[in-house]
Amino acid sequence: TERTLVLIKPDGVARNLVGDIIGRIERKGLTLVALELKQVSDELARGHYAEHEGKPFFDSLLEFITSGPLVAAVVEGPRAIAAWRQIAGGTDPVEKAVPGTIRGDFALVTQENLVHGSDSPESAEREIALWFPGLD
Ligand code: ATP
Repeated sequence: TERTLVLIKPDGVARNLVGDIIGRIERKGLTLVALELKQVSDELARGHYAEHEGKPFFDSLLEFITSGPLVAAVVEGPRAIAAWRQIAGGTDPVEKAVPGTIRGDFALVTQENLVHGSDSPESAEREIALWFPGLD
């Protein structure tokens, strides 16, 4: 079994898509092991997106991710990292995400793409420790 960090970004909360997105996670067969609605600090946002520091969209991304409350969760199951990325869809909601995925069904632009998922076991470990310190 494997764990991954799930974020429902501020656009997903503002658009009342939390229930739909959590429902898709549950119907896929993944299990929630932590779940929180929170307003993200600039410091946490920078820590989370450290790999993107210096990119042209970095400042805009920080502004977006701190623009309102988001949902952070840890989800568990067999191949949870790949399974969550599959149901989320590709980063670009039109060019990469296909219909049937969260981004393919509900998003139009690359920044406001509703969700985040860890991309490897190493980043899952780092991100879960960052968002849920003390989780067993
Ligand atoms: P995430 O890490 O959030 O799951 P990802 O792994 O699909 O997304 P990354 O390339 O890691 O995509 O980018 C992180 C986030 O930064 C994207 O989800 C998106 O919100 C934003 N982003 C990425 N590329 C761009 C871009 N070219 N313009 C605007 N925002 C972008």
